[in-house]
Amino acid sequence: MSEKTLIILKPDCMKKNLAGTVLARFESAGLRIVACKMIRMTDALLREHYSHLVDKPFFGGLCDFMKECPVIVGVLQGENAIARVRELLGPTNSALAPAGTIRGDFGDKANITCNICHASDGAEAAAAEVARFFCENEIF
Ligand code: UDP
Ligand code: MG
Repeated sequence: MSEKTLIILKPDCMKKNLAGTVLARFESAGLRIVACKMIRMTDALLREHYSHLVDKPFFGGLCDFMKECPVIVGVLQGENAIARVRELLGPTNSALAPAGTIRGDFGDKANITCNICHASDGAEAAAAEVARFFCENEIF
């Protein structure tokens, strides 16, 4: 089934000049970019986007990290896009992510926060996250 999923190229990805490299991984896997823009994260957006983490001790540090520089948000579309993009990323902790995954190849193995890219973790999250960052007329 063709699905849409939200990605965010995080500040570590932007600072390492890896935006094109990471987008190329997705494109090479057959996923299509159907929306894309650069934005600065705000506390209000982050509180919504990471609402499942607001009570965690690392939440403040995560928000500071996500505001370090502008990020690229995008929507990828394809067959089973939600699960496939998560597979291409690898697990949250880059130290545990296998070589060949985006986080395994480019994430900071000494800092779990700096893992290059966000991706929606399920159908419900994907629908909410796409709508959080994009209007209907920004998705092609
Ligand atoms: N994170 C962190 N410390 C942790 C767990 C997560 O800083 O112990 C950060 C990390 O950047 C992660 C984000 O919070 O990507 C969201 O966490 P989640 O559990 O949703 O992981 P993801 O879905 O990004 O793999
Ligand atoms: Mg998540």
